[in-house]
Amino acid sequence: MTDVSKWYDDFQVLKDISLTVEVGEKLVICGPSGSGKSTVVRLLAGLETHQEGRIHLQGGGMKTQRPGDIGMVFQSFNLFPHLTVLDNLTLGPVKALGLSRVDAEERARAYLERVRIPEQADKRPAQLSGGQQQRVAIARALCMEPKLMLFDEPTSALDPEMIAEVLEVMEDLAADGMTMICVTHEMGFARRVADRIAFMDAGEIVEIGAPEQVFQAPKSERFALFLDKIL
Ligand code: ADP
Ligand code: MG
Repeated sequence: MTDVSKWYDDFQVLKDISLTVEVGEKLVICGPSGSGKSTVVRLLAGLETHQEGRIHLQGGGMKTQRPGDIGMVFQSFNLFPHLTVLDNLTLGPVKALGLSRVDAEERARAYLERVRIPEQADKRPAQLSGGQQQRVAIARALCMEPKLMLFDEPTSALDPEMIAEVLEVMEDLAADGMTMICVTHEMGFARRVADRIAFMDAGEIVEIGAPEQVFQAPKSERFALFLDKIL
């Protein structure tokens, strides 16, 4: 995105945001609550509109042309409660990509395997733990074979003992070369996985850099104070 600004009425939520992600790159976005992190990922996912600037996902070989090219995982899972896990996973590929039921099921089972819950296919979301539900949500996005995965605080709603299992799945995905933008305050994950970390405050990207650089010596006072609080 280039020079993107967005307002809610008179309130400017994003101020001249420019951000580029290379194919295969893992970008972590952190920053205080209300700084505009969700707005950035929601814009990239096409869930919001903006008033100024350009969002271009075509550059660098990232041609997004079909539904599911951008996968999104929310803090609150957003699974369909009345459908089984398997049906949550096959819905998009059947309806939006035109896969046959058989092919969609085969794909769904493969991704359930990948997020390490193949045995949960016939359950409904409410019968699963939060960590399992979030892994279903990740598998559901993967079933669309996305080119870019967006995560908006995927572990923030989870009990502490479930955070690691979701981060592990995300790390597997990163190791497989997925292009990822993750809003998270899990700085251990950021240190292990991120190519770059962006720090947002008050609608701006205050600082962006490699983990080893920003953790050792953040350039801005605001980022240093933020890291002091969360580390
Ligand atoms: P973050 O994810 O960093 O916590 P958000 O992107 O959710 O921040 O929100 C940034 C700011 O925009 C917040 O002050 C929030 O209250 C405001 N905001 C978000 N969504 C809306 C909306 N639909 N209408 C008005 N203000 C909003
Ligand atoms: Mg948010």
